[in-house]
Amino acid sequence: MRIAGIMKNDIVNSNNGVCVSVWTQGCPHRCKGCHNPETWNFDGGYDIDYKSLKEQVINALGANGIQRNLSILGGEPLCEENLFWISKLIHEVKVAYPDIKVTLWTGYTLEELQELSKNNVKLTIALLCIDILIDGRFEEDKKDLSLELRGSSNQRILYRGVDF
Ligand code: SF4
Repeated sequence: MRIAGIMKNDIVNSNNGVCVSVWTQGCPHRCKGCHNPETWNFDGGYDIDYKSLKEQVINALGANGIQRNLSILGGEPLCEENLFWISKLIHEVKVAYPDIKVTLWTGYTLEELQELSKNNVKLTIALLCIDILIDGRFEEDKKDLSLELRGSSNQRILYRGVDF
C-alpha cells in the first residue's frame, strides 16, 4: 500500500485539538483546482506495509501520555484502492482507543457513500468508525478559504450520530 504522508502532531487538520494525520495516496476525482494534485497518482507517494503504519499510528496517538485524535486525508481514502486498509486501520484504532475522534476527508458525498455501502461491508465498517466526515469534491467556483476544514462551500462537516 502507498501513502502520501503522516504527521504525528498536527494542529491544523482537526477541530478536536492535536491529531495524528495520515494522507492517503491516489484520488479518482481529479477536482479542478485541487490543492493536493500530487496525491492523485496511485503510484505516487511511498510504499509502506500495513503493520508498520498501524504501529506508527497507534504509538503516535498516545505518545508522551497525551491522547490525540486521528485525521485521514487524501487523496481519496474511501476509493476502492484505499478502502480495505483504511477501514482496517480506523477500526483497529477504535479498538485500541475507543474514545478518540476519527475525522476523514472524502471527495464522495455522504449520499454516494451510503448508496455504495449497501454492497460494501468495508465501507459500512469505515462509516461506523468515522466520527466526523468532511464530504464532497472540491468545486473551484465555490472556493472559500475562510471555511473551517473545507476548501469549497459545497463540502460539509458531518457528525456521526447526527448526520449519518
Ligand atoms: S477529492 Fe480532494 S484530493 Fe481528490 S482531487 Fe478532489 S480535492 Fe483533490
